[in-house]
Amino acid sequence: MNATKEETWINTRIKEDQKTRYMNAGKDFIDDSAIYATLERNANPDASRIRDIIAKSCSIQTLTADETAALINVRDPKLVSEMEAAALSIKKKVYDNRIVTFAPLYMSSRCVNNCTYCGFRKDNHAMKRGVLSQDEVRKETEVMAGSIGHKRIIAVYGEHPSSDVNYIAETMRTIYSVKTKTHKGTGSIRRINVNAAPMSIEELEILHKEGLGTYQVFQETYHHKTYAAVHPANTIKADFPWRLYSMHRAMEAGIDDVGIGALFGLADWKFEVMGLVSHAVELEKKYNIGPHTISFPRIEPAQNSILSKDPSKKTSDEDFRRAVVVLRLAVPYTGMIVTARENAKIRNDLFGLGVTQADASTRIGIGSYSDISTDKQQDNRQQFILGDTRSLDELVRDLANMGNITSFCTAGYRCGRTGKCIMDLLRSGKEGKFCKLNAVITFREWLDDFASPDTKAAGEKVIEKEIEEIRNKLPGVFDEFFKQYNLTKKGERDLYF
Ligand code: SAM
Ligand code: SF4
Repeated sequence: MNATKEETWINTRIKEDQKTRYMNAGKDFIDDSAIYATLERNANPDASRIRDIIAKSCSIQTLTADETAALINVRDPKLVSEMEAAALSIKKKVYDNRIVTFAPLYMSSRCVNNCTYCGFRKDNHAMKRGVLSQDEVRKETEVMAGSIGHKRIIAVYGEHPSSDVNYIAETMRTIYSVKTKTHKGTGSIRRINVNAAPMSIEELEILHKEGLGTYQVFQETYHHKTYAAVHPANTIKADFPWRLYSMHRAMEAGIDDVGIGALFGLADWKFEVMGLVSHAVELEKKYNIGPHTISFPRIEPAQNSILSKDPSKKTSDEDFRRAVVVLRLAVPYTGMIVTARENAKIRNDLFGLGVTQADASTRIGIGSYSDISTDKQQDNRQQFILGDTRSLDELVRDLANMGNITSFCTAGYRCGRTGKCIMDLLRSGKEGKFCKLNAVITFREWLDDFASPDTKAAGEKVIEKEIEEIRNKLPGVFDEFFKQYNLTKKGERDLYF
């Protein structure tokens, strides 16, 4: 595509009416000075108020901005420990001991934007660019589903005409079509989530029809001034409200599993937590459905990005931990994702504070799952450098040794348990029933197809405990469950409730 065609593409991306229709007198729902005022107003919360707020979270209710700000400002170590204990107990109440795993599949590194923190930005001429062909997408999927054993992926795309909505749709069809042989059965990706630039309602309808799981767009920063500073003015990404209302458009396109996020390190972490919670509250208010997931990546070093190597608002481990705990308490029903940007120690720690999803065996170079020559991380092929390079097998084993079951369940969206339906089930604790049964069945399947002997041994112990729990706590469904479990053991695949 020549420069003029690319320019025309860029100039027609933003549909003005599909952002202004949601705004109030030209203003979006993030009011920077109101956020500062709320943080200020709640600077010294007293202990009894904090305990009331914790109790509200434990009854799985979303917190207000003032309540969130109060939790952010707690300094008393005793209260901090109470908040941390509540975060884990909420996670257990809603998600039990399950952790969902996935892996990113990077499709394209071409990008028309110039985000100062990203290795893919267009002015980084040292980056080796690529857009996977459909054949390459198939090969990557075969490795992910056939050798590693992933059942769900997040497909990641740069914003470029060569990776437009038609390309995204085609790659989704390719991924879903792959059925590859494993030790005992067939490996396939059963849920595709997508992380891509903001799209119009019409484009999102196309992805919805292709079987999109969660649509993820991170706001990067909710702080207007910082947003303008890191996204150069002449780019699509510079348009703050176009990005902010991505999830509104997704809901209108029928996609009701949406993932929000902020890139920690650009603005003050307290501001970003307030922004994320405001986003969740806005979606609940407008659509009765909050975010399916919240992500909180911290900036990692990226090639030729000074900002990424020394972020002006670098979030310390301690502040990051608090951010995660407050988010868990403020939006108690949501899934919380910690990616392999973080190192293994921090990730293990966050599993004990309410995180519910993590990637593993992660490769973020274009084509790097099927390219066995790329053992090492290469900053000229990757968006950033990873902190945790554990394989899925290692992560599953570590989780099992901590008493967690890795769930490979993808039944929810295939049975229509999405959006409002799943939200209500999660709040009431009823989703747990389906999830528990499916977690055990899919874990059995994965252990038999992919686990190393050590991981299998660790997994068996967890499964035994889970089966006993189902026998005691869910006697009404035990027989049917046990039948499906045994069929899975014999080699049947993809059974679910
Ligand atoms: N291009 C699309 C966009 O920007 O929305 C989607 C893909 S982008 C590759 C996915 C996410 O990676 C971004 O939203 C951003 O939060 C994150 N990211 C970018 N640079 C990063 C860095 N240096 N360290 C950690 N995360 C980064
Ligand atoms: Fe492009 Fe996304 Fe990277 Fe920005 S963050 S340069 S939009 S790939």
